[in-house]
Formats: sequence, C-alpha cells, structure tokens
Amino acid sequence: MSLAWPEPSGERLSQISPSAYTALLRCPKRLAFQRDLRTKHWVAQSTRTALGRVAHRLTELVAQGTAPLPPDRREWLEAQWEALVQQENLLIEGAWPNRQVPAPRDWPGYVATRVRLLRRLADLPADREGPRVPGISRGSTGQPSLPWVERYLEDMRTRLCGTPDRVERRDGRIRVVDLKSGVGQAGISDDQQRQLLIYAHLVLTAYGSLPNDVVIQDVRGREEKREVEGKEVQRVVAQANEAIDSFNQMLDDGSVDARPGPEACQWCPFRVVCDDYWESRDDAWPRLDVRGVVTERTGQHSVRLDLASGLPGSTTFRLLLTPGVKLLMGEEVVALDLERAGPSTGRMRWNSRLRRGAAD
Ligand code: SF4
Repeated sequence: MSLAWPEPSGERLSQISPSAYTALLRCPKRLAFQRDLRTKHWVAQSTRTALGRVAHRLTELVAQGTAPLPPDRREWLEAQWEALVQQENLLIEGAWPNRQVPAPRDWPGYVATRVRLLRRLADLPADREGPRVPGISRGSTGQPSLPWVERYLEDMRTRLCGTPDRVERRDGRIRVVDLKSGVGQAGISDDQQRQLLIYAHLVLTAYGSLPNDVVIQDVRGREEKREVEGKEVQRVVAQANEAIDSFNQMLDDGSVDARPGPEACQWCPFRVVCDDYWESRDDAWPRLDVRGVVTERTGQHSVRLDLASGLPGSTTFRLLLTPGVKLLMGEEVVALDLERAGPSTGRMRWNSRLRRGAAD
C-alpha cells in the first residue's frame, strides 16, 4: 500500500488572524493544509502548547479579579493550575490514542513554568474593582471599558480578526499585551511585532483610539515594549490584505506555493503529508524523519524500512516502534521526530506522527 500525497484545497480566506497570517508568510501550503478537512487533524495537541494555554488561562483569571487575596491566593492558584493541567492532559490523551502520554510533571518545562508563573501571580495586586466579565461595557460613553481580556475583535472592512490577550490602560497609555508562556523573552520578534500591530489596528477599530504601546509579557512578568506608530499599523494591515488575495488566488488556481526549508519545516506538522518537504529535505535538516516501505520485522517492536528518501549512505532504516503502534509488511510509512538510536536506526517518541498505507 503506498501513500497518497494530497494537494491541499482548504477553504478560501474571508478574513485572517495574526497567527494564520504568520503561517501564511512562512509557507502558504502549510496554511492550506491547516484549513483542509482532510489534513487539519495532523495539528495534534502538544505538551508545549498545553502549558502555554494553562499559563494564559491562569494569568487571565487573576487579571479578571477572580483570584482571592493573599494568603488564600497561593492555595487557589495551585488548585487552578492542577485543574487546568488535568483538562489539557485529557485533551492530549484524546489526540494521541494508544500512545503513552507522559504524566504532566514530566512534560518539558512543566516545573519551571509552574514555579515562575505561580510565584508571579501570587504577588499580583488584586483588581480593585472586583471580578469582571471580559468585554462587557461598564462605561457610560457606550464604548466598552478597558481592560479587555481575551476579547474577540474583527474588522470586516480590512478582513482582520484576532483575540489579544489583554488591552488595558496604564499610566494614561493604552497597551495591547500579549502573554508568552516561556521565560527569557529576548526582544520582540518580527512575527510578534506584526501580530501586535494587527491587534493595535483591531483595537483602533473597536475602541476608537490607537493603542500607545504593544507589550510582550513572559511568565515572570517581564515586559518588552514598543511604541505604536500609525503608519506602521497601516502598512501591516495593507500587507495582510494583499496576502489574503494572493492565497485565495492560489487556491482558485489549484496550486498553493510551498516554501520548504529547514527553518520553516521543522515545526510544521504537515511534513507527514507534504511531498515538497520530502523532495527538498536532506540529512542536514533538523528532525530525524523517515519515509519508506516495511520490508522486515526485526523484533517484537521494530521493523526495517526500505527508504524512499532520507539518509545518505543507507537504503534501509530500523524503526523502533513506540508502544501501541504495529505496522504491516509492505506498508509505506512516514514517521516524524524520531530519536536517534544508532546507525540508520531511530526510535519513535510517544508523540511521533506516523502515517501509513493508502487509507490515511
Ligand atoms: S512541510 Fe514545509 S513545505 Fe510542507 S507545508 Fe510544512 S512548511 Fe510548507
């Protein structure tokens, strides 16, 4: 059974969010796969994004004023953290059936994120005005009052939409704040700057005032800040609109551009279905990924593959299977994110994506 290599035919864009725009700039084909019902499921839950969501959610609960005052705050934070992590764990287990998902405390970055986040949130001053519902107006002018916490914004005219983590007023300045789950944020990257400027435009449309600053805040509470310039916002908005038209044109033409490269592809889950990736990659690219046909069972949990492409100096590869995975003789398989386990040998991790046969 050989594998099919689909050409993505996802929905046309009627509007775009900052994260989708970033995906589009990196590789239009990636965004098309993301929007194609046949392939979108390959974006499976990861522990890294799960921790990010927990950090976001907990920070916003505190920002909304729902956390009790010290000394009860610490215990409340620990209970909330535990409940949110368990929710994420269930989602991950559902997304990776038959795989042995590690316990949350063994997720990379779990301990550091928990310690730093809870320490910072325990010290945050309480909201003087008490619990608030994000996005509900408390002002008398008809405009929604700030802060806005995870309020969805859209502008039909410019076809932009998005949900900034927080829009607030501090020291008389309006700020758009984006929370990062990591620590040690080093400056504001081009992608982050673009995302924040799109949020600034959406705030201008919804609130009537252009924010003064865009801010990235890490789990320790450290901030990187930039002043917003109106011309820069207009430029980013115009570029995003051009990108929407050009993407839709590619879909209409039935051929979406791919931009394979070691940087763009290494984080892309669609390596598993993308023939451009397999035609372009070489052994110097990050990630140990293989594609081949099962020709021999070499043990209870291992098979030998005849490689269709991949490692120089070798035409076969021994694949050590993770528990819960069985392969049939003659099947063509693609396996991603293996761990090296010797010459021409790799071991699947619990979250290695695997595509097999024609049925997938
Ligand atoms: S694997 Fe690379 S080329 Fe293929 S869709 Fe992803 S980023 Fe684009």
